[in-house]
Amino acid sequence: MQKIEFFYPLLAQPQKVVITMHQKPDGDAMGSALGLYFFLKALNHEVTVISPTNWADFLNWMPGIDQVVNFEKHSEKALQILGEAQIICCLDFNIFHRTKNLANHLAESKAIKVLIDHHQQPDEPSFDFGKSDTGKSSTCEMIYDLIIESGYESHINTEIAACLYTGVMTDTGSFRFPSTTASVHRMVARLKESGLKHDQIHHHIFDNFLENRLRFVGYALANRLEVLYPFNTALMYITKQDLQKFNIKTGDTEGLVNYLLSIQGIKFGAIVIDRDEERKWSFRSKGSFDVNQFARLNFEGGGHVNAAGGRSSHSIEQTVKDFKEVLIKYSNQLQ
Ligand code: 5GP
Ligand code: MN
Repeated sequence: MQKIEFFYPLLAQPQKVVITMHQKPDGDAMGSALGLYFFLKALNHEVTVISPTNWADFLNWMPGIDQVVNFEKHSEKALQILGEAQIICCLDFNIFHRTKNLANHLAESKAIKVLIDHHQQPDEPSFDFGKSDTGKSSTCEMIYDLIIESGYESHINTEIAACLYTGVMTDTGSFRFPSTTASVHRMVARLKESGLKHDQIHHHIFDNFLENRLRFVGYALANRLEVLYPFNTALMYITKQDLQKFNIKTGDTEGLVNYLLSIQGIKFGAIVIDRDEERKWSFRSKGSFDVNQFARLNFEGGGHVNAAGGRSSHSIEQTVKDFKEVLIKYSNQLQ
């Protein structure tokens, strides 16, 4: 993988570009994809964002989202566009399998592949150009850097500002995680100068759920939370019946894991959700406990030091048991 700087000259000539991101894109994946989309369109490229799967409803206000092609729903159309692409930009993931069923098509494509990401241990040989920087708050911050470093700062418009703010805000936990550097705040200041209305974005993302979601959170906190004090760990599990009872959709469970770390003394929060295809884990930690390593070694996952995800094909009861068993090995690290 060559440095991203060597990719900048390609921006000057209009190209057919596909932008994609990890499955079930979150605010950073969708924000960085759409931010780059508006930037490349301003430079007269022919651009399509292809999402590997659907996404949470709370992202549906985003500018350009009605143009995003959902690969699961419109695979023929997506594959045709992918087949014609000269450049594929891969954002907010580090290895093709994070795009689920799109992975083989990305691997087989002859297009120039560009990686822009901030997760640990990227699969660099799969990409022609790229930047992987785990020190960055978000992929949105990296798209902002690309715009500035490639010399096109004047192209930042209100759409780009709204998209990039979404990802940097959601990936930093509203600017509270240690990844929130001075350059993050400088970037936000620059986006404000381009007309960013940050209050509207917080409203769209946090104040737009249906009643059932709030009742579900209350139910989960009251009935599905286990605090394992000897390990300074909080665990939550959500069954298929819980999801059905409250009519829970993609995105409604986002943020639930953060409640776990609000308990005094808790350093490790883990939540497992019984999804149709697998049991999906979310891990969060405070301080030095490395949940990326924990997820990699025990639950086929990965991510960042303080935020990671994983999966299990066992039943929900069994995967909770598995978790409690492996936790014993981490007792010292969690003191
Ligand atoms: P979340 O818990 O919000 O789904 O994910 C937390 C972080 O871990 C995100 O940066 C996400 O991209 C990453 N992540 C989630 N699941 C996986 C996984 O299965 N594998 C890897 N490598 N990263 C994951
Ligand atoms: Mn991210």
